[in-house]
Amino acid sequence: MLNGKTALITGSTSGIGLGLALSLARQGANVMLNGFGDVEAARAQFEGLEIEVDYHGADMSRPDEVADLVQATEARFGACDILVNNAGIQHVAPIQDFPPERWDAILAINLSSAFHSIRAALPGMLAQGWGRIINVASVHGQVASVNKSAYVAAKHGLIGLTKAVALETATTGVTCNAICPGWVLTPLVQRQVDARALADGVDNAEASRRLLAEKQPSLAFTTPEELGALAQFLCSPAAGNVRGQAWGMDGGWTAQ
Ligand code: NAD
Repeated sequence: MLNGKTALITGSTSGIGLGLALSLARQGANVMLNGFGDVEAARAQFEGLEIEVDYHGADMSRPDEVADLVQATEARFGACDILVNNAGIQHVAPIQDFPPERWDAILAINLSSAFHSIRAALPGMLAQGWGRIINVASVHGQVASVNKSAYVAAKHGLIGLTKAVALETATTGVTCNAICPGWVLTPLVQRQVDARALADGVDNAEASRRLLAEKQPSLAFTTPEELGALAQFLCSPAAGNVRGQAWGMDGGWTAQ
């Protein structure tokens, strides 16, 4: 149980981040939400849970705002015990057509923000002798796909960062691991389903099936709830010696 602990989840107004935040809240953790879009709808999901929820609108592409997010969490709740680096964006294009500003944004939000948040949160975790850092990477941190150069590079980098932090904290009560989902049906992936439906002239269900069939042998989306259960495990005492791992939940994608 995570009663009395505080979890900061970046990019938690939708999709996987919101699912992870809810899973940790159901274990008793207070949560600091972050991200854009419908913040009130996200907050409403926590009603009825006996925990405290707050929100900070830091833009994860801005290092000063990332540091402020961590400091605000510590000030509001007394500690940042669990840090989940989840905020992420995608852009799909062949590298010769890939806009450089999209490359910069993806590297900043999907990779560098985790460096800045870990850098800010680690001293507090080390001082109290306990902490959990979970970086939401992807199968694209382990293997590549066409037209996703920036995303693949950032997610491979995030797994590298995870290993480096795990080694630097190996003898402490702080662990750092990555989780690597395959397809999860969130707004980020729905846009890719929509693009497939348009390109192939098929409906949403058939476009989803084709997307899955290409990569994910289970032919089923991984769910935020399943990822939440994995995050709960990584925060449990049983996972105290799980360090520097890139833990897949990908329906067999990377087994091929
Ligand atoms: P999503 O679009 O539903 O959610 C992304 C979240 O990040 C939102 O809360 C959004 O507001 C926030 N965000 C975006 N830019 C931000 C910024 N500059 N500052 C702060 N917050 C920002 O997407 P998702 O699918 O839930 O993705 C969450 C994470 O999971 C990402 O890191 C993504 O790469 C990873 N992932 C997703 C899948 C998938 O299939 N959906 C698979 C593997 C990994």
